[in-house]
Amino acid sequence: MSEPHVAILGLGIMGSGMARRLLSANFPLAVYNRNREKCTPFANDGAFIATSPRDAASRAQIILSMVVDDSASRDVWLGANGALSGASPSSVLIESSTLSVAWVKELEAAAAQCGCRFLDAPVTGTKPHAASGELLFLVGGSAEALDTARPVFSVLGRDVFHLGPTGSGALMKLINNFVCGVQAASFAEALSLIDAGGLDRVKAVSILTGGAPGSGIMKRMADGMAAHDFTPNFALRWMAKDLAYALEDASGKGVSLQTATAALSVFQRAIAEGHGDEDFSAVAKSPERRPY
Ligand code: NAP
Repeated sequence: MSEPHVAILGLGIMGSGMARRLLSANFPLAVYNRNREKCTPFANDGAFIATSPRDAASRAQIILSMVVDDSASRDVWLGANGALSGASPSSVLIESSTLSVAWVKELEAAAAQCGCRFLDAPVTGTKPHAASGELLFLVGGSAEALDTARPVFSVLGRDVFHLGPTGSGALMKLINNFVCGVQAASFAEALSLIDAGGLDRVKAVSILTGGAPGSGIMKRMADGMAAHDFTPNFALRWMAKDLAYALEDASGKGVSLQTATAALSVFQRAIAEGHGDEDFSAVAKSPERRPY
């Protein structure tokens, strides 16, 4: 059986790895990116370079968006020459960006009006997982649409969790990232206290990472800091975005996320200090702290 035609909208850190992965598995692929320069390397590898999201969508049975936020998602699906205007009613639309639950539900309604099936399918994993097909997909939407999209998920991910109706994947992803953001912010504050108390930082960090608080997030941050490497795998400003979306959704449900509120202010300070485009681990950089 031949592979379905796929369109990828957004060739950033994550979308570019996913596109490469599909090309290496011989999926016919159309790609769109707002900044056209990022498309050029994909033409050499056999992808069709679309001039608009509509152009990409009109060539695909499965259309996957991987852009920054609600506003970018609105642009690629519903903007001028948006993907929804080119998608055929038999296609499955997949929104894999980390977005608000409210927007994802609005988008599903717009897709349904065009007769298209829709899945919210954000991912866990970062740049290397996107490149190697080891993402974890958190899916909301119908089981039937998921089955149609499964060949694509199988190439891009190591597992797929079907969590329920539209919005369930988006909500799970925001919960996941709110917990990650809180851990990152608390590690940053722990480092401040380690420094202020005059403890040996290398010893203190190895006690934390090797003990009960030593989560994957904390270990990843400690490795980046030890190597002085803050090249973004996941940009700090996008972690702040996810904390803000989680807070917005929780507030709508009458749930108070006090730790997310505190973590967001730690991330906002790091953005104000100029670290927004660095890896989220740069939240542990601080003007008063010498390099780790
Ligand atoms: P990124 O490298 O910053 O790429 C962002 C992409 O969004 C680019 O293709 C960019 O296009 C596009 N974009 C931004 N605004 C746009 C607009 N108004 N219209 C059209 N396209 C627009 O981000 P990323 O790290 O790949 O993240 C993408 C999504 O995945 C985000 O929602 C993020 O939270 C989520 N995510 C990221 C990771 C990670 O580790 N990086 C992990 C899980 C989930 P241009 O090139 O033209 O700017």
